[in-house]
Amino acid sequence: MAFAEFDLIDTYFSQRMEQRDDVELGIGDDGAVVTVDAGNQLVVVTDTMVAGVHFDQDTPARAIGHKVVAVNLSDLAAMGAEPTWISLALTLPSIDQDWLQGFTHGLREICEYYGCQLIGGDTTQGPLAVTVTAHGVLPHGSAIKRTGAKPGDWLYVTGTLGDAGLALAARQRRQQVSDAHYRRITDRLYFPSPRVALGQSLRGVASSAIDVSDGLLADLRHILKGSRVGAKISLDELPLSLALTETLTQDQALAYALTSGDDYELCFTVPESQRGVFDTLVAHTASKPVCIGRITNEAEALQLTLQGEPWQLPETNTGYEHFASPIEPSV
Ligand code: ADP
Ligand code: MG
Repeated sequence: MAFAEFDLIDTYFSQRMEQRDDVELGIGDDGAVVTVDAGNQLVVVTDTMVAGVHFDQDTPARAIGHKVVAVNLSDLAAMGAEPTWISLALTLPSIDQDWLQGFTHGLREICEYYGCQLIGGDTTQGPLAVTVTAHGVLPHGSAIKRTGAKPGDWLYVTGTLGDAGLALAARQRRQQVSDAHYRRITDRLYFPSPRVALGQSLRGVASSAIDVSDGLLADLRHILKGSRVGAKISLDELPLSLALTETLTQDQALAYALTSGDDYELCFTVPESQRGVFDTLVAHTASKPVCIGRITNEAEALQLTLQGEPWQLPETNTGYEHFASPIEPSV
């Protein structure tokens, strides 16, 4: 007997998932019903991962389940929201029970870790693609936008940059990496950690924020454009892992850190007047944001310096862009 859609949903998605008190009705009806506290606003984000575009054939199913949630929670973090509920649109070429088991394992782990509940979705047949819509909440008016950066604000990034990009290059045999480094950076590519706690603590402190998904330069440009400001970055301060500095030349390492995608770190600005509060609050968080520069009043101008000298990217590459070239149909 064919494993029908309802059995699939029952087996893999209805059971053993994180449960929240604010979910009145989860999976199983035509729609989910959730309660939003008076005084809060909802933040809603969506991200899709398509086989052959966002992940290759050998990507473990558990990693896909983790990452499709992580990339959405990273968007919520950049807004300062607390993640609460997700829905999942799943397009599968066939019902592969091993794949589904791995996928739901990854999805369940990250939902449990961040306390958000899968409340619904849709399941269809077609080329493998997964879409998550994540919902988060925050106090009315406290969302951190891309438009609030002001000249003089300090510019920060979390974590280290370029690791996932290097892992992808190693997987695609464009770059040789030692086994020890490879293991760590592959984890960053497959199991990114969205900066959920930090994002929430930046409410009322950061003047703007964005998550770094397409490369720092590409994403920072969104802040510069939205806020009509420029930025001065000291590349000496850019947080680089040993995997980057021990594998690549300095220029190559900087290029990865500035332009390769999939970091899922936060980039944000802090006004001078909030810097004391900010220093106190990050003293108690695990992710240690690093100050890499300052916002200037020269609209959309980006100045990069290394040891005080102007520095330019070795390539014209400035981050991943969809639709940069057409995809040939495969059938
Ligand atoms: P409908 O036909 O009313 O859209 P479905 O038969 O598609 O309902 O889905 C039945 C229930 O299962 C709904 O509550 C829906 O949200 C949920 N659901 C379907 N697919 C998924 C999925 N991939 N993940 C989580 N919940 C799902
Ligand atoms: Mg219906």
